[in-house]
Amino acid sequence: MRKIVAGLIGVVFIVTIGVFAIPEPDPFPAVPLPELGDGPITLRVVRAINPRFDALTEAEFEEVLRQTVDLVQFHFGLEVQFERGEDYDVSELMKLNPPAAREDAIGLTYELPDPSRAPMRLAGMIARALENGQSSIAEAVEVLGPLIPGAAEMDVDDLALAIAEVWANGLRRWQGLRAQDRRPVIDFGINHQKAIWDVLGYGDLPFEIVMTNQLIASAELYGFYPGLAKLGGLSLGSTAFSRSSSLGTFGMVSTFFLVNDLGNLSNLGPNQIIHDPSVIRENALTLTHEIGHMLMHLGHPEGKPGCIMSAAYLDVQSAPEVPCPVNSEPAMIPGAGPFTIDRKLLESVTK
Ligand SMILES: [Zn+2]
Repeated sequence: MRKIVAGLIGVVFIVTIGVFAIPEPDPFPAVPLPELGDGPITLRVVRAINPRFDALTEAEFEEVLRQTVDLVQFHFGLEVQFERGEDYDVSELMKLNPPAAREDAIGLTYELPDPSRAPMRLAGMIARALENGQSSIAEAVEVLGPLIPGAAEMDVDDLALAIAEVWANGLRRWQGLRAQDRRPVIDFGINHQKAIWDVLGYGDLPFEIVMTNQLIASAELYGFYPGLAKLGGLSLGSTAFSRSSSLGTFGMVSTFFLVNDLGNLSNLGPNQIIHDPSVIRENALTLTHEIGHMLMHLGHPEGKPGCIMSAAYLDVQSAPEVPCPVNSEPAMIPGAGPFTIDRKLLESVTK
């Protein structure tokens, strides 16, 4: 009898679980791959100008877009067309950022400690990214090895701390630079912080692409890439979720570094990416790279710096001429580099 009761309880228990065990929704679902259709893909593009810094001229900007159309066709076999929207002042654009997104971004941005203290929180984030495979140790050693003696022999924690030091020292270098107006390139605002751009798509953005002359250089407690650390947190471009984009993401390209002359920056690391007079081409390559992320969610192939989707594509003096065809390797399979949505944040800004 007892057995039967126990059995019955078991049945009731199972049935109860069957009824109530609705799986929790994924807190960070992936942005679906966009459906591209057959015709040309229209991308709405705007500029966001910080009047303190030099920017591409209108003619240069139009030429960047023209070259990008050809590059996207060449590298991805896709036809894109651009639809220009009104220019923004960077500070006006940032007003589209919902307060909750802004708050999240500020919380995820790492404030550098006094130079006498080690950047431990940043090192902890890097160590986790290396340990859980979100970032590859081999790639970190390849990219940052020249700046970190003995990198290949270090354990993960020591390597992460050494990388964090490189990142922090590079960012301090940015903080010490002055623009043509003699004021620091990083002023009291937060528009140079990558996180504030990454969450912008939680606002209602009337574009798929924004090109800005704003310097973006910072450190944040998520999304570690070796190239980011090497250049003191400098961001040339990024792609992130956008709730109003026809593709589900928006791309940002910063022209700051390629347009503004700040003198010799060689102590920010080897393989400096600035190399005049190909500014227009460099910007077009960066935009093409981001479009590869946006249209097909491609990843970053490793050990192929000549490939447009390589994280090191601009390190190659001869810009990528050899296409790495779509589907030619794991990182070039559509969906290899997915983007996530912060469900809670999205719900809070759309309710
Ligand atoms: Zn990329």
